[in-house]
Amino acid sequence: MRRVTIFGATGSIGRNTVDLLARGVGGPTRVVALTGGRNVGLLAEQARLLGAELAVTAYPELLDALRAALDGTGVEVAAGPEAILEAADRPADWVMSAIVGIAGLEPGLRALRHGGTLALANKESLVAAGPLLLAEAARHGARILPVDSEHSAIFQALVGEDISAVERIIITASGGPFRTWPLSRMARATVAEAASHPNWSMGQRISIDSATLFNKAMEVIETREFFGVDPAQIEVVVHPQSVVHALVGFSDGAMMAHLGAADMRHAIGYALNWPVRAHLPVERLDLAALGRLDFEPPDEDRFPALRLAREVMAARGLSGAIFNAAKERALDHFIAGQVCLTDMAVLVERTLAALAPAAGADTPLTLDTVRAADRAARAEVDRLAGATVPAMSDVDQN
Ligand code: NAD
Ligand code: MG
Repeated sequence: MRRVTIFGATGSIGRNTVDLLARGVGGPTRVVALTGGRNVGLLAEQARLLGAELAVTAYPELLDALRAALDGTGVEVAAGPEAILEAADRPADWVMSAIVGIAGLEPGLRALRHGGTLALANKESLVAAGPLLLAEAARHGARILPVDSEHSAIFQALVGEDISAVERIIITASGGPFRTWPLSRMARATVAEAASHPNWSMGQRISIDSATLFNKAMEVIETREFFGVDPAQIEVVVHPQSVVHALVGFSDGAMMAHLGAADMRHAIGYALNWPVRAHLPVERLDLAALGRLDFEPPDEDRFPALRLAREVMAARGLSGAIFNAAKERALDHFIAGQVCLTDMAVLVERTLAALAPAAGADTPLTLDTVRAADRAARAEVDRLAGATVPAMSDVDQN
């Protein structure tokens, strides 16, 4: 029986994964561990539903509440970042990496040691430390399967193809809630406006990243890491309907597009069933009802994140870790009302510039250097913003 662990079970991706497992997708499963954050009520409910062996909250102060919620069930409980790593050390064949932010990196790295499958939703890991993650997977004969919808789409379009025949990879962006807003109005956007994605229902942070196109910038870097293509081969096109998730263009001029409903259970289910395709409970497309699919170029003046991603890919080294951390911290400042939406790209760009000397291509990429770059970038964003604000882990309610 397949042993499964979910990191970030109580979040948007985690809940969708639990939903699929509860429906029996992927076949008979023994759930080794589920981890969550403050929502220990939901975590306990998920652990009961799936008969998990262990439930872990990231917050030590919530251990008693989790224990009380699971009293009499026989589910083991634990709390804190160390306990999450210990959960990662328990052998599992299929692991979902769905913690949000850089906190997802180390559990993912540890889980790879079992040589199984890491279903990777946590794109921050690949952006900050792609080569490290891939080397760890190779060392242990583990497989990383993409769970981001665009990367799952690319992966599916490549089945049976030779990567050397790939000319270009095009990922789509909905354009977010501000696709048609002038820059002056974007500057005044509220957190609630930024978090209201037109097509996808996701966690607050990735939704706001979609509004600034920082999410797409992260995904461009993620594409480079996952598929090993040259940055110049990766393109972004704005596609407001979010029906086409990605396209792969081949050397004979053909393009393979992946279409589907905007439901993350498709990408998660594909990773659960891979290498076979099996029934998934997602909506089927009605193309005639859709009527049309629109595409337009992204506006890099209003959405500078895409340009920054190209600079990061050219610089290599620790610049991905700096980019990710600066973006995460700039987002903390925006959520706290400390800076405006359009300031986020300015903070990230200045942080990249300030830390460039330490980020060079020849800097060795290790967990320690990535962590140090992450800390330095967060401190630099605080310095530039002239303030400190609560960290994500202080406000996350999942
Ligand atoms: P979310 O905020 O809904 O959930 C995050 C999960 O991580 C929760 O279980 C939370 O308790 C846990 N968590 C948060 N901080 C933690 C910490 N410091 N230590 C341990 N656990 C912590 O986020 P989400 O939208 O589900 O996104 C999860 C990941 O998947 C992100 O990397 C995101 O970019 C990626 N992703 C999400 C979607 C989507 O549709 N939501 C799509 C593609 C990729
Ligand atoms: Mg995506």
